[in-house]
Amino acid sequence: MTTTAEETARADAAPTDAPRPYQSYVYAYPHKTAYRPLPERPALRDLWRDEPKGALSLYLHIPFCEVRCGFCNLFTRIGAPDELTGRYLDALERQAVAVREALGDGRDVRFANAAFGGGTPTFLDADELVRLCDIAELRTGADLRAVPLSVETSPATATADRLAVLAERGTTRLSIGVQSFVDAEARAAVRPQRRADVEAALSRIRDTDIPVLNIDLIYGIDGQTPASWRTSLDAALVWRPEELYLYPLYVRPLTGLGRSAAPLTDQAWDGQRLRLYRQGRDHLLEHGYEQVSMRMFRRADAPAQGPDDYACQTDGMIGLGCGARSYTSSLHYSFEYAVDMREIRAIIDGYTATPSEEFARARHGRRVDGREARRRHLLQSLLQAEGMPLDDYRTRFGSGAFDDFPSELAAFAARGWLEPCEDGPRLRLTPEGLAHSDALGPELFSPEVRAAMAAYEPR
Ligand code: SF4
Repeated sequence: MTTTAEETARADAAPTDAPRPYQSYVYAYPHKTAYRPLPERPALRDLWRDEPKGALSLYLHIPFCEVRCGFCNLFTRIGAPDELTGRYLDALERQAVAVREALGDGRDVRFANAAFGGGTPTFLDADELVRLCDIAELRTGADLRAVPLSVETSPATATADRLAVLAERGTTRLSIGVQSFVDAEARAAVRPQRRADVEAALSRIRDTDIPVLNIDLIYGIDGQTPASWRTSLDAALVWRPEELYLYPLYVRPLTGLGRSAAPLTDQAWDGQRLRLYRQGRDHLLEHGYEQVSMRMFRRADAPAQGPDDYACQTDGMIGLGCGARSYTSSLHYSFEYAVDMREIRAIIDGYTATPSEEFARARHGRRVDGREARRRHLLQSLLQAEGMPLDDYRTRFGSGAFDDFPSELAAFAARGWLEPCEDGPRLRLTPEGLAHSDALGPELFSPEVRAAMAAYEPR
């Protein structure tokens, strides 16, 4: 295996025209900032009529948190005054009914996995979580106890009564955002929490029989050192989580951290994050974890759970809630996107007032044509440690990846990011390529998507 020292030496000798390593986290393509209003407001019934519906993903979005972490640009608001959660669930139920009607009631509609994300789904109390599960089961027809069900939580809201509901309703994976076990680092990331409370929440989670625990950690926090990073990694490993996500810290426009001055120069911060990434990766590999992607590590003996950060390439997605995306093979759509708290509050208020008939149409999104589908396939496969089977690509599109993306793949190879494999079965990143996932991904964006993202005004 390549060692950190070898990689660092090779990276130090790399051409200086290599792009900066931390440009953007490509968790979906095209990004929501490339979505635009759809003036024709297509009916969901027409959009889904000829789509395969036998293995859909279901995602329910709960846009509420107790605090707004300084690094977070997700679609979420702080608190929910005036029984807003109840009104939000009412709207979610109306939307679920409208979407299910649009999908049709045939036997060909089946959900293969489900997730509650946010925000913090466990911001809802136990009774509201019961209702959320009922909406997923009774209104959309998902059989939550029969499919993988992933739920995000936070230390303060992972209470015993909520966890009992989630376990009873079939949750198979709980993901908790810890970010750091060092209290001073948590404060620096504008996520005030005490380690004792985090440990208590992890203990409550392990008291349930939910089989997969994921812990999120962040590196690159102001004041974080290799020693303090190791403290967080080891504190997480005590709980033997089946999964660990290691996220580089980003400072993004309109977030809490985005409004304060960055403490390091860009170059020094890039160097710090790369060193901490390599340290974290090597530490987890030494402790029995496999690397799934730049961010994701899975305990080698953990039960398989189905898709998580690797969205299946061809199956559709139904997103319910005002921050959720839905995907057909040719259109990605959602509600409007914002990061600024005032804008988010207005969008949520608009969502809760939306009548049923409005939920039967897509209003905001982006068409995905054949060329964009090729880019999406390459992006989502290449950013996985196991790489992309070249035959799968050829079977799906009738052409070869090297023919479709000659200049991009040549540039990646010249930087040492691709394993030599033109004639091999898989296109796979080297460890250095995987470390640069957040630079490599954006280079595969089409000029059109790039232009749309550049024209987007953060709000
Ligand atoms: S990081 Fe998670 S808990 Fe923090 S504000 Fe964002 S969604 Fe909420």
